[in-house]
Amino acid sequence: MAKEKLECSFCGRRKAETNLLIAGIDAHICDRCIEQAHGIIVEELKTQATSKLGSDLVLRKPKEIRAFLDEYVIGQEQTKKVMSVAVYNHYKRLMQPTEANEVEIEKSNIIMVGQTGTGKTLVAKTIARMLDVPLAIVDATVLTEAGYVGEDVESILTRLLQAADYDVAKAERGIVFIDEIDKIARKSDNPSITRDVSGEGVQQALLKLLEGTVVNVPPKGGRKHPDQKFVEVNTQNILFIAGGAFDGVERIISKRLNRTAVGYSTSKNLDAIDKDNLLQYIIPKDIKEFGLIPEIIGRLPVLTHMDPLDRTTLRSILTEPKNALIKQYEKLFAMDDVTFSITSEALDYIVDKALEYKLGARGLRSLCEAILTDAMYELPSSDEKTLEIDKEYAAHALDKNLLKRLELAS
Ligand code: ADP
Repeated sequence: MAKEKLECSFCGRRKAETNLLIAGIDAHICDRCIEQAHGIIVEELKTQATSKLGSDLVLRKPKEIRAFLDEYVIGQEQTKKVMSVAVYNHYKRLMQPTEANEVEIEKSNIIMVGQTGTGKTLVAKTIARMLDVPLAIVDATVLTEAGYVGEDVESILTRLLQAADYDVAKAERGIVFIDEIDKIARKSDNPSITRDVSGEGVQQALLKLLEGTVVNVPPKGGRKHPDQKFVEVNTQNILFIAGGAFDGVERIISKRLNRTAVGYSTSKNLDAIDKDNLLQYIIPKDIKEFGLIPEIIGRLPVLTHMDPLDRTTLRSILTEPKNALIKQYEKLFAMDDVTFSITSEALDYIVDKALEYKLGARGLRSLCEAILTDAMYELPSSDEKTLEIDKEYAAHALDKNLLKRLELAS
C-alpha cells in the first residue's frame, strides 16, 4: 500500500511545512488554516450581531442597572431608580421582534431636572459605560434652527457617529445626552412676535429626532465640509436623555403646590412639603410653564429630578465612587511609590470649603488640586515615600494656592 501523503486538505501544505496538522475522518487541517477559519468566524459573528440590532446587548435587570449606577453616582435615589427602569424598558424595546400586530413599546426618553454639578452628565455617562454603547454629549445652547448661525440639530448625530467610530449600526442604538435643554425654552409667551431661532425653533427641530426618524447626517459635521456624502441615521432606537437646571422652576412648582393646597383647603399638605428641595415635586406641567413645548415634553416622557448635594453627599463623593477623587490621587501617588493618605478632618475641611464657596461637586476637584499640587510637584524627585494630608496641611495649601483667588472672585 502506498504511503499516505500527509497534507492539509484546505491549503495543500505538506506536513513538514506546517507547525501542526490535525487529522479528521477523511481530511487534515493545518494550524494556519485553523487560524484563518477562526478569523472568519469571529468576523462573521460580529457582522451578524451588529446587523441584528441589539443582539449583542446584554439586557440587565433594573436592579442590576441600579447597582452599577451606585458604584459611580452617590445619592440621587429617585433618578437612579427611574433611570434603571427607563433604560431597561428602552433596551427591551430594542430586543422585541418587530412583528405586525405586536403591541408597540414606545420610547422612554428621559428628562433630568437638577442644578448644575449634581451628576446629570455622570448618570448618562455611567449608563453608556454599562451598556457599552456610544454616547454623545451635546449642549442645547449651541443649536439653532437650520439656516441660522449655530449648529443644526443634525450635528447631534454627527457627534454620535463620531463616538461610534462611524459605525452606523452602533450609533443607531447609542445614547444622546442633551445638556442645558432648559436654555432652549420659549423666550416669550407669544411665539409670533419675533422668530425664536434658538428657542422654540430648536425645540421644533428636535421633535423629529426624539421621536424616531431617518436623518441625513453630515459625517464630518456642519457647514465646513459641503462636499461630504451624507450618512443615513435612524434615530428610532437612540435613547435621548435631556438635562437642565431649569433655574426658577422652583417658583413655578411652589406656586402650583400653594394653589393645590388652597384648593383642597388642607394646610396639612403644605406642611409636609420639603421647601429646601422643591424639585422633587416637579411634574411635566411645570416644565411646560417654564417654556418647553408640550410636544417636546411628550417625547421625553420620563421625568426625574436631581437632589441638591448636601454635606454628607459631597463627603461621600470624595471617597466612595469607584473612581472617587481620593482613589485617583492614591493611584497617582502610588505610581511614584508614594503612599498617600488623607485624614477624615481634612476631608471634612475640603467639603466645608466647597460648601462655603458654593463650588458643588465640581469644586472638589479644584480644591484637591490646589491642596496637592505642591506635593505632586516635589515628591517624584524626593526620597519621601509617604504623604499624609491633615487639616492643617490642607488649610495651609489651600490658603496659599486657591482661596485668595476665590475670595477675589466672590
Ligand atoms: P451636571 O451634568 O449635573 O452639571 P456632572 O455630572 O457634570 O453634573 O457632575 C460634575 C462632577 O461632579 C462629576 O464628574 C462627578 O465627579 C461629580 N458628581 C456630581 N454629582 C455626583 C454624584 N451624585 N455622585 C458622584 N459624583 C458626582
